[in-house]
Amino acid sequence: MSINIKRIEAVNRESRLGAITGYTGTVKDLVKKAKSGCLKNKERCFSQATNCSSGCAQGYLSRIMDAAIVNHGARGCSADVIGENTNFQWGQNIRNLEKRNVNVINTNMTEETTVFGGRSKLRNGIREAYKRFNPKAIFITTSCASAIIGDDIKSIADEIEAEINIPVVPVFCEGFRSKIWATGFDSAFHALLTRIVKPPKEKHPEIINMLTFNGSGRDYVIEILANFGLVPKFGVPFSTIDEISKMSESAATISICGTLGSYFGNGLEQKYGVPYVKSLQPHGIAGMDSWLRGLGKVVGKENEVEEYIKKEKEKIAPELKEIREKLKGKTAVVGMGPSFSHNYIRVLNELGIKVVWGASWHFDQQYDHGSIPESSIELSEKEYDVPISVCDQQNFEILNLLNKLKPDLYISRHPGTTVWPTKMGIPSVMVADEFSAFGYKGIIDLGYRIIDTLANNNLALSLSKRVKLPYTSWWFEQDTFKFLEEEVK
Ligand code: SF4
Repeated sequence: MSINIKRIEAVNRESRLGAITGYTGTVKDLVKKAKSGCLKNKERCFSQATNCSSGCAQGYLSRIMDAAIVNHGARGCSADVIGENTNFQWGQNIRNLEKRNVNVINTNMTEETTVFGGRSKLRNGIREAYKRFNPKAIFITTSCASAIIGDDIKSIADEIEAEINIPVVPVFCEGFRSKIWATGFDSAFHALLTRIVKPPKEKHPEIINMLTFNGSGRDYVIEILANFGLVPKFGVPFSTIDEISKMSESAATISICGTLGSYFGNGLEQKYGVPYVKSLQPHGIAGMDSWLRGLGKVVGKENEVEEYIKKEKEKIAPELKEIREKLKGKTAVVGMGPSFSHNYIRVLNELGIKVVWGASWHFDQQYDHGSIPESSIELSEKEYDVPISVCDQQNFEILNLLNKLKPDLYISRHPGTTVWPTKMGIPSVMVADEFSAFGYKGIIDLGYRIIDTLANNNLALSLSKRVKLPYTSWWFEQDTFKFLEEEVK
């Protein structure tokens, strides 16, 4: 097991999971190299942009209903709060909650702070967060500045915790800690595992921890699990500190995303014996089959699960056939986080679409349970060897690739990479909602969405005639991976 809960911070994904951000080849080659332990990262000698793991940690924890965040950094480090607040309000909307903003404070580290230290600013920030929000726990998210000057965040957290009598928990997520921004999720989960989740007082065999981002598909999940006498406990966004503290009492943990769930799911299994369901993501047909079978196995409901799968697949079969006929022969490029990317390649195949390239923002050579991601293994066992790359959202590579491949569709989970293909005239679908393509109903919905997108591409075509792209024709003539260096031996 790679999770060490005795440490005060999570080990980054590069060291823990062998995660990489640079690769080009095919899915069979990727998995073969990962299996044999010879997959090495390829560095880029040019990088256009990347992301910060602090955003993932902060964004995730700031949606806990009765917690507060103190971001100990320069004001710019809290720029992500705008997006986090949008997500928070979207989630409140789904749940019919009265709208409010996230409980986040920034300590406004300045040049002077970096010279003389940020201890008093941090103390004031924690006290202010306590006064303003009356939270049940406060998380301190670190920044590059606070880490570089070596502010002793743990001792300040302990000092104020004794004063205000609620957990004050450091979350070590400064951007330079890792090139893989998903490390921020692990930092957040590490804080929860080590300080918030309590040992079980009793066990609830009907309750299943369901790890999500926003949880838009709550009703469908509740409906599915009810067939097996199970009740989902959604988290951690929109949960309370008390609910999270009891996640050790559940019968199992399932996740909407392998990248998201690996640390917490495996951590709960390791620390409290709550089994984590290791399966494909529940997107599309094979994904939902695998997810439900994995769940059925850990809760002893295999027969009920098989009956449900059969019934639901029969229900959607005629509609799926129609959709497949309409999408037959279409081609797509996928650009998503690692887990979604390799799962969506399979989903698009189920819809009759051929994926001509799959880009993922990083690749974990293994999850915390020691296995290569299940979706990558499944793809590598198919006859068609999908060309793939690993790039941390380098738009210059994606646009170069799209210009060469000219697919019928580009599908991504991040608006920052969907907007540019649209401006090139390529029909693009942004899958912001993690429950898009969720299970048997979801794949049908996604199928219709793609059909609609392909039916009328006038917006993208009009934009492509009027918008000047930021890249020159020189770049489009170059090899897509010109700036990807050779493997470091
Ligand atoms: S990379 Fe560092 S400086 Fe930039 S936002 Fe993240 S924590 Fe702040």
